[in-house]
Amino acid sequence: MQIDWLPLEQVTQEGEHTYTFHLKLPDDFVWEEGAHTHMALEGFNVGEKPNRSLIRHMSISTLPSEGTIGITTRIKPECSVFKQTLQQLKMGEKIALFKTHSNIPLRREGRTVYLLSAGVGLATFRPITLQHQIDRSGIPHMHSLNVDSARTELFKTQLPSHEQFSSTYVESRSAYYDALKDMTADKEGLYYVVGSDEFLHDTINVLQDANIPKAQIMIDKRQDQLDTFLA
Ligand SMILES: Cc1cc2nc3c(=O)[nH]c(=O)nc-3n(C[C@H](O)[C@H](O)[C@H](O)COP(=O)(O)OP(=O)(O)OC[C@H]3O[C@@H](n4cnc5c(N)ncnc54)[C@H](O)[C@@H]3O)c2cc1C
Repeated sequence: MQIDWLPLEQVTQEGEHTYTFHLKLPDDFVWEEGAHTHMALEGFNVGEKPNRSLIRHMSISTLPSEGTIGITTRIKPECSVFKQTLQQLKMGEKIALFKTHSNIPLRREGRTVYLLSAGVGLATFRPITLQHQIDRSGIPHMHSLNVDSARTELFKTQLPSHEQFSSTYVESRSAYYDALKDMTADKEGLYYVVGSDEFLHDTINVLQDANIPKAQIMIDKRQDQLDTFLA
């Protein structure tokens, strides 16, 4: 397994308790929009078994063309040892990335793409939205719906609306479900969902109650986990 140890180059605050950690991009490091990676801190692989408290799944919130690997996460005052350590890293200190992979490639099938996210889950959709700005072929419209009780309106200025992209930010789950139910009038749409497992289950229930076929629902899970979520 290839492990890349990459220096921290910059930290950007995106909102209250929300930060993007920018890592140096090596020439041979490639990923597709929507990909996730394993992010690990120093010491994670010194014992016989990997120390899981020093490893997290994270989406890459940038595109390769931006020249940086961005990881966006929320760090609240009460947080895990992983997040505490991350927040205390100094510029130049290294973070390990490995097993980078995308389960949710952008499908260009002439259908509207709906991006449904909770909180910082929107980070997964940032590069997907930017890629659509660069190449709109096969996607007549893209709409992002984000629910976040912290009212961060993450990336709002970076992902401006245009004739083929729109976005809505809501603060409550009830407003989210109202907006989602309206969307499901589109039986041909592709529905991408990112958030906690509970959010995935609840959103998939609404989609399936509206007779959206499972082939049109995209979630960031391995093939063997898809069956459980889309049963
Ligand atoms: C495919 C995939 C992609 C993912 N992508 C991302 C991503 O891009 N960004 C991202 O942020 N996460 C992402 N995640 C989730 C990520 O892996 C972590 O599970 C998540 O960030 C929570 O991190 P944490 O366990 O360090 O907990 P924390 O974020 O530190 O804590 C989780 C919650 O528990 C509370 N808490 C923690 N410790 C304490 C304490 N001691 N006392 C009181 N309250 C406490 C926190 O305030 C917070 O509300 C992804 C997961 C998967 C599976």
